[in-house]
Amino acid sequence: MILTVQQAEDRILSAVSVLEPENRHISDSLGCVLAQDLYAQECLPPFRNSSMDGFAVMSKDVQLARIDQPVQLSVNEIIPAGNVPKLILQSGQAAKIMTGAMLPDGADSVVMVEDTESISEYVKVFQSVNSLENVRLPGESVKTGDLVMPKGKLIRAQEVAMMAALNVQEILVFRLPTVAVISTGDELADLGSNLSPGKIRDSNRYGIMAQLQEMGCQSIDLGICGDKEKNIEETLLDGLLKADALITSGGVSVGEYDVVKSVLSRLGQINFWRVAMKPGKPQAFGLVDGKPIFGLPGNPVSSLTVFELFVRPALRKMAGFSALKRPIFQTTLNQDVVNNTDRVNYMRVLVEKREGKYYAKVTGPQGSGILYSLVLANGLVVIPANTRVKAGESVEMQFFEDAL
Ligand code: AMP
Ligand code: MG
Repeated sequence: MILTVQQAEDRILSAVSVLEPENRHISDSLGCVLAQDLYAQECLPPFRNSSMDGFAVMSKDVQLARIDQPVQLSVNEIIPAGNVPKLILQSGQAAKIMTGAMLPDGADSVVMVEDTESISEYVKVFQSVNSLENVRLPGESVKTGDLVMPKGKLIRAQEVAMMAALNVQEILVFRLPTVAVISTGDELADLGSNLSPGKIRDSNRYGIMAQLQEMGCQSIDLGICGDKEKNIEETLLDGLLKADALITSGGVSVGEYDVVKSVLSRLGQINFWRVAMKPGKPQAFGLVDGKPIFGLPGNPVSSLTVFELFVRPALRKMAGFSALKRPIFQTTLNQDVVNNTDRVNYMRVLVEKREGKYYAKVTGPQGSGILYSLVLANGLVVIPANTRVKAGESVEMQFFEDAL
C-alpha cells in the first residue's frame, strides 16, 4: 500500500496515546509536560518590598524635591533584604532600604539611591516619587489560588523557577517515553570492532538514540541484531518488556533479507507501508501489546528523516505535548529543483536568515545513504511530487533544531 505522508502521519498519531502521568521532583521535570493544573498556594511577592536600593519615604514628603531643590530627611533605620523593619516611618524620615527588603509601615514609596545624597544620618532627595513607586506589592505577580500553569504546559527553566518560588516540590507530569532501539543487518559492525570486508558501521542506532536524547527520552540500547529472524524476534520481545516504544532500523523493504518485516508481521498488528516520500519510502508501523513499533528504513538519511517526520511527533503525543510537529517556515531555494517522481522530496538544505527572510542552499548529493549532506544541513525543504521549483520561489521548510 502506498500512503501519502499525511495519511501515514494520521495513522501513526491516531494509534498512539499519552502515557500515564507520574510524580516528579521539580528539579527533574525539565522538558516534561504538566499533567495537572497548578494553583498557587502562596502569593508572590509574599510581602510589600522595594524594587530598588534606595530610601523608603512618604511620597508626600518629597513631592517638591528637584535636582536644584533637594528635600532633606533624617534616616531612621537601615533595612537589609531579609530583615523586618523595626520602626514605623514618620513624616520627615527616610529608611535606607535594599532591593527586596520589606517596606516599613508608614512608607509608600522608594527613592532610588542614584537620586539621593547621604550626609551622616541625613539624606538629600533630588527627585520626587509617586505613591507606590519602586514598590512591589504582595500578590502583584501571583495571588494565592491563581492558576499559574495549566495542565499541558511544557516545563521549561522559567516554569521550574516559578514552581520553586511557590514552594512546589513535586508535580504530576506526563511520562516521557522510554524507547528501545535495535539495528538490524548482517553488514553492521559496532564502534571499535574490526571492519571486515563487506561490513559498515552501524550509524543509525547512535543517530536514533541521539534524536531520542534531544527530545528528553530515555533509550534502551538493544545493540545490533543480524538478519536472523529468531535473534531479532527475541531482542524485540525483550525490548518491548522494558520500553514504551521500540524502533528498529533496516530490514523493512522488499529485499530477500528484510527479515524485520517477517518478524513484525508475526508479532502483531503491524503495517508495512510505502510512503510516497523520498528519502524513507519503506516503513513499518504498528502496535504490539499496545506499544508502538516504528520500523525505520536502513539508509541513514531515511532513518533520521523518518524519525523527524513521524516518530518524533508520535513520541511527543505520548509525552503529552499538544504541539507535535516542528514549525514550518517559508524559504527560497538558491537553485532550480525538479522532482519528477510521485514522491514528496525532503531535501537537505542549509538555511540562512538575511533581513528577516530565509534562504536555503542544497547541501550536496541527496542520495538516502549520503549522511554527509545531512551533516551540512540545518533543515529540510519540501518539494512536492511532480513539481519544478525555480530558484527564488517560495517553498516549505522545517528546521531540525530550534529556528535561526
Ligand atoms: P535495508 O533497509 O536493511 O535494506 O538497508 C538499506 C541500506 O541501509 C543498506 O545499504 C544498509 O547497509 C544500510 N543500513 C542498514 N542499517 C544501517 C545502520 N544501522 N547504519 C548504517 N547503515 C545501515
Ligand atoms: Mg538490512
